[in-house]
Amino acid sequence: MGGTILVLSGPSGCGKSSLVNEVLKVEKDIYFSISTTTREPRSGEQNGREYFFISKEEFEKDIGEGMFLEWAQVHGNYYGTSLKPVLHALEEGKLVIFDIDVQGHEIVRRKFDDITTSVFITTPTSGELKNRLIKRATDSMETINKRIENSRIEMQRIDEYDFVLINDDFEKALESFKAVVKAARLKLDTKSKELFIKSWYNTN
Ligand code: 5GP
Repeated sequence: MGGTILVLSGPSGCGKSSLVNEVLKVEKDIYFSISTTTREPRSGEQNGREYFFISKEEFEKDIGEGMFLEWAQVHGNYYGTSLKPVLHALEEGKLVIFDIDVQGHEIVRRKFDDITTSVFITTPTSGELKNRLIKRATDSMETINKRIENSRIEMQRIDEYDFVLINDDFEKALESFKAVVKAARLKLDTKSKELFIKSWYNTN
């Protein structure tokens, strides 16, 4: 059996990374895809941990060489998912988790629909999102406003996702997120389903 995919989307500041980090501590056989970006690292971010930080020129070269499974421009910067490590993790039967935006989700669906589960994570209100971004104090007011504006647009595509998770109480959200992870692992690709049906009928 091959692996499966779980796509997480939602405004930055809604708690996606904290949820993923908690799950990575306790769950096995998960590959968290580290994206490549041209945005500046925030203070405390490390190259190769949160993102691979590269220049716009390098990113555009990688696009030309077909290195990305998907890529998009978000808030004026490039973000992309490298193809090779994802294919490798899928071959190893792992659950591959992506933290990508709505554009990336659309592409992953087009390429891997039968093994993909998706969840849109968000705050209870847009006001709460703004409070969290201000409290996080990693972005300028201009960047925060850009992110809020972008999240208003993203929210309109929430119905493209299998699940919506409102991160109000972290412990409750974590419990729900673990249930989504469990469900995502149960997806079977089309070929495996066909093989299973065949063997089910042929084995008395
Ligand atoms: P941030 O700059 O806050 O880390 O991320 C901004 C947005 O970019 C988030 O919505 C995040 O999900 C999205 N993002 C991060 N990596 C990728 C990627 O590889 N592809 C796409 N399409 N979006 C990404």
